[in-house]
Amino acid sequence: MKELSLLLKKFFGYTSFRPLQAEIIRHILLKKDALVLMPTGGGKSICFQLPAIYLPGTAVVISPLIALMKDQVEGLVSNGIPAAALNSSQSEEERQQIKQLCIQGKIKLLYISPERLMAETDYLLSRLDLSLIAVDEAHCISQWGHDFRPEYTQLAILKERFPQVPIMALTATADKITRTDIIEQLRLRDPKVFISSFDRPNLSLTVLPGLGGREKSKAIIQFIRARHGQSGIIYCLSRKTTENLAERLSAAGIDASAYHAGMPAELREKAQNDFINDRIKVVCATIAFGMGIDKSNVRWVIHYNMPKCIEGYYQEIGRAGRDGLKSEALLFYNYADVITLRKFAEESGQSEINLEKLQRMQRYCESDVCRRRILLNYFNEEVEHDCGNCDVCLHPPRRFDGTVLVQKALSAVVRTGQQVGMQTVIDILRGSYRNEILSKGYNLLKTYGAGKDVSYREWHEYLHQMLQLGYLEIDYAHANTLKVTPLGNKVLFEGQKATLAVVRPQEKETAPGKASKGGKIRPRAGSSAEETLADALRQLRSRIARKEGVPPYLIFNDQSLSEMVAQRPVSLDEFGRISGVGDRKRERYGPVFVELIRFVLHLPEK
Ligand code: ADP
Ligand code: ZN
Repeated sequence: MKELSLLLKKFFGYTSFRPLQAEIIRHILLKKDALVLMPTGGGKSICFQLPAIYLPGTAVVISPLIALMKDQVEGLVSNGIPAAALNSSQSEEERQQIKQLCIQGKIKLLYISPERLMAETDYLLSRLDLSLIAVDEAHCISQWGHDFRPEYTQLAILKERFPQVPIMALTATADKITRTDIIEQLRLRDPKVFISSFDRPNLSLTVLPGLGGREKSKAIIQFIRARHGQSGIIYCLSRKTTENLAERLSAAGIDASAYHAGMPAELREKAQNDFINDRIKVVCATIAFGMGIDKSNVRWVIHYNMPKCIEGYYQEIGRAGRDGLKSEALLFYNYADVITLRKFAEESGQSEINLEKLQRMQRYCESDVCRRRILLNYFNEEVEHDCGNCDVCLHPPRRFDGTVLVQKALSAVVRTGQQVGMQTVIDILRGSYRNEILSKGYNLLKTYGAGKDVSYREWHEYLHQMLQLGYLEIDYAHANTLKVTPLGNKVLFEGQKATLAVVRPQEKETAPGKASKGGKIRPRAGSSAEETLADALRQLRSRIARKEGVPPYLIFNDQSLSEMVAQRPVSLDEFGRISGVGDRKRERYGPVFVELIRFVLHLPEK
């Protein structure tokens, strides 16, 4: 194990293993099969990369996405590890060259797409000295998983052809059926299943209910401005919204690109590359974006609309903070989304399951218990404590006697003959002059204007609470109109008391500064010495990245940079102690980085 720790520092610059990494590596070195479940950013790659370096021969890594392969290979090569990729986008000549290198034993890790693998099993694989086989994104093999790829189902032949080579299957998707499916289809022999915690304590969780479209854009602009220089993704439900929002942000002076599957391939690729290379900081995207993006310094993820299930949501927010630094997930929750998503679910062909999943997601948004506990419970993890890093923990709900408010709302619903939806009820309560209100004579109702003193947003949230508390329900079959329940009638007619939670002020959630705790790199120039140094280091990193044609985070990630700011290494030895600095990077980049740090600190040149 000591030797492996040394290799970890030498090649990757890390001083210790993350939870489970060491156990998994030990297991695979005993030539045994394994299934590894770790959340995105948990550190799966090291689990096969390190044994691949340690063992004689070549490790084959099956990976579904060319972009992901490219990133991993570049990362390995930049750390001085001989690695290559074979996929169908290369020319025959290129492939021949790589194959020759493999056969000569000059490549420690060979990344290969499943299609290519099938073509190469007979000729190439049987000529290699195989150390291990890693199947990345292994959930793609299962029809139960959310990303089924038919090519993956042929991988069963690996065990038949190479029974003595250990197979490691890796995924970030946890559910039980998928797990069993992976083990069966890959014919794993008595595999040990390693499940690491799905907790991502560095990710703060916030749900902001009740904002309409325009208010959301305003809140987002404010949010981004308070986080100068940070990269983030905004997930939207529709293609149109990604475009509109990107335009609105651009008009507000924020560089943002749209991304969705309906865009021409070149534009999509450009948006993705610009984002990876820090040329634009913000992408407004549908969920088509993100798979295969390994960018470690995404600082925040916003959901402009509620996602359709918790698995998807967790995977999407997992794209923030892969480097372990503080990051934020913000979700805008709104009943209009629930209605749209319900419709999708009902039409999906698997309506029962999908409606159930949607309901779990909705309960998450509406919950007033620790949000992280809900998520981890969903993934069958036991949690004993509240997390202290979600909006519920940070601003526990305060309650008040809301009987009068509830009575006003229910009364408005009853007086329309229970024929209207949420927006109209609020308009009646607030005494709106909207045409529809006047033409239907709602301005003559006794409750018209009875709730003027409460803002639109607050009413919106109180009505949500009334739905959750069971005073009201939505009649989905009849144009989503609101109906008073028997319990509601008790409050309305029998004097039963109703308790509501105070609506939290909006500014709190998006307050600037909250995010800047905890050693983050803040690039605003001209302020403290620390920021000057951070800024200079980032610029140097970008310059090198441009010159080498790789994304900046492959040179050093944000974690390494913030350690440089904190430790201020002024010699190569000190530089080598920074996390993420292995031998290769110390030699290659150490001199320029140290020189820059000495310069910024006004130390004499060496
Ligand atoms: P996954 O494939 O599980 O999503 P990665 O393998 O890409 O995650 O790792 C996520 C990040 O964590 C990477 O930046 C990686 O370099 C870093 N990392 C992995 N293992 C360690 C470790 N032992 N110490 C410090 N950082 C690590
Ligand atoms: Zn919490």
